[in-house]
Amino acid sequence: MLRIGLLGGMSWESSAEYYRLINQLVKERLGGFHSADLLLRSVDFASIETLQSEGRWDEAGAVLADAAVELVRGGAELLILCTNTMHKVAPAIEATVDVPFINLIHAAGATVAGRGMGTIGLLGTAFTMEQDFYRDGLAAHGLTVLTPAAADRTVVHRIIYEELCVGIVSDSSRAEYVRIIQDLSERGAEGVVLGCTEIELLISQEHTNVPLFPTTAIHAEAAVSAALA
Ligand code: GLU
Repeated sequence: MLRIGLLGGMSWESSAEYYRLINQLVKERLGGFHSADLLLRSVDFASIETLQSEGRWDEAGAVLADAAVELVRGGAELLILCTNTMHKVAPAIEATVDVPFINLIHAAGATVAGRGMGTIGLLGTAFTMEQDFYRDGLAAHGLTVLTPAAADRTVVHRIIYEELCVGIVSDSSRAEYVRIIQDLSERGAEGVVLGCTEIELLISQEHTNVPLFPTTAIHAEAAVSAALA
């Protein structure tokens, strides 16, 4: 079993979920007392959020590349970046370390394409929904991406930062997400990528008939498969 390095803290609410899921998957696959061999480097999200909101992506990439080097020095044999949004700077991380980097966007794209879908809805931060990096990553798997209209993108983004990243999970916000997912479906989305690692703390498949692709779970599974390959 390879030692997994997690670049986390963005936010810690979802990193805790990664930790739980990865250990659960290792236990399921190896049985007995087995658990994951991992390192977690958890950053102070306030500093990353400032760099995001000020558009200082190169600096954010440098911070995360440094953290990745620390993980590798600590013995990490493969890396995952526990946030969709910060995959915008994944190339800076991949260029800095020479251990395998399990890319969340590609894991999600492969999972969706593997289900035979061609048009997919995407929910995430405004950065994820509106910039090219995520759409292009899914397009590499042959997928056409639909995002909510501007007013609903604002709702989705606000709930992530003002609620989910600070541990608030509310029924009213879940209802908003269900409405927006339904709207994407009516516009032609065959499923919806939950493209933010906190969204699956709010909503799961039991809340909608539209097929959902929870990226924390998909990414955790990809990391465990790589670690045990
Ligand atoms: N965890 C979130 C994501 O998956 C949002 C927080 C962040 O901006 O990193 O995009």
